Amino acid sequence: MGSLAIFGGAPVRSRFLPYAKQSIDEDDCKAVTDTLMSDFLTTGPAVQRFEKALSEAVGAKYAVAFSNGTAALHAACHAAGLGHGDEGITSPITFAASANCMLYVGAKPVFADIDEETFNIDPCEIEKNMTSRTKVIIPVDYTGQAVDMDTINALAKANRITVIEDAAHSLGTKYKGRPVGSLADMTEFSFHAVKTVTAGEGGAITTDDERLYKALSLFRTHGIVQSQKEGPWFYEQMELGYNYRITDIQCALGISQLAKLKEFAVRRNQIKKIYNDAFSNMDGLILQKNAPFSQTISHLYMLKLDLPQLKADRKTIFEALRAENIGVHVHYIPVYFHPYYQKLGYKRGLCPKAEALYEALITVPFFPAMSDTDAHDVVTGFEKVIGHYLK
Ligand SMILES: *Cc1c(COP(=O)(O)O)cnc(C)c1O
Repeated sequence: MGSLAIFGGAPVRSRFLPYAKQSIDEDDCKAVTDTLMSDFLTTGPAVQRFEKALSEAVGAKYAVAFSNGTAALHAACHAAGLGHGDEGITSPITFAASANCMLYVGAKPVFADIDEETFNIDPCEIEKNMTSRTKVIIPVDYTGQAVDMDTINALAKANRITVIEDAAHSLGTKYKGRPVGSLADMTEFSFHAVKTVTAGEGGAITTDDERLYKALSLFRTHGIVQSQKEGPWFYEQMELGYNYRITDIQCALGISQLAKLKEFAVRRNQIKKIYNDAFSNMDGLILQKNAPFSQTISHLYMLKLDLPQLKADRKTIFEALRAENIGVHVHYIPVYFHPYYQKLGYKRGLCPKAEALYEALITVPFFPAMSDTDAHDVVTGFEKVIGHYLK
């Protein structure tokens, strides 16, 4: 197959293939420009239309849209009543926001280890880490695969714990036939540029609980409510909230994108099949197992290097793939490895399975706008590089 590009050989691709990229078409552009010329740039009719479209898509009673997914998680922690002295449990293999949101309200994130095969948080590890202070569980549908929600909900119910599902990766995924967004007390979605559906930036919480819905809405807008008490100008700030509003411009894009969720999902599944077929037959690689209860729409495609079979570590293989113009990435560094968390006193060794996974993880380019040829280039790149480094 020729020598590796990192040693001066010809790369598999002449152009760099990124790990993710948004799919924006003419309809999306028109939706945004129409909004720019309308009466409302923010907090107008598009916000409600977006919330309605999202709540219908995921089978939830309410949706509250926020400026981003992190703000939505912060609001959910607040609405759950999480605060000083409380603890919340999440996965270490996630974006830092899943844990940061607990720190925002003064609570302590507790990391529960993952399942080695599905890479998702292990409900047995959640149970082991529960204390009398545990007030929320924030399970993450890592890569888009649903966590075992029946088991997690049962643990939570028995202990008066609120479940906030971090579904930033799993819009469109179903759990035992039920859509993610209708399973937990609250479910958080993100509409960041690389996510399955984008609004540029954006986030939302879906819930069936009217009390939570009201608390989330209040938190989004400074804690302010409209009131006619002293006249038409009057409003009152009832608590300390934030400006976590989303704009009509973003929501117009979000609505237009959400209408294409099924189309995006079909394309993601097609690319996933090309990868699964190729990678499952390649020595040196281990695929993420899909649990039977999750009908997954993947946001990320991960490979785990079978390091004992290889002569090189992840960094060497990663750099060799990049040299072939295959835009691999790594999702994620265990959250408590970050210097800020180390300063808070979290020690390496806390979640051995997550740490071992991190050493072997590679994110493969995966997005609906890539062609079959792009996907086959990725496969060729892995054949070349992994073939070179196999023992
Ligand atoms: C993207 C993401 C979020 C939210 O991120 P925002 O960029 O604030 O929308 C939360 N959790 C996970 C796992 C994510 O990937």
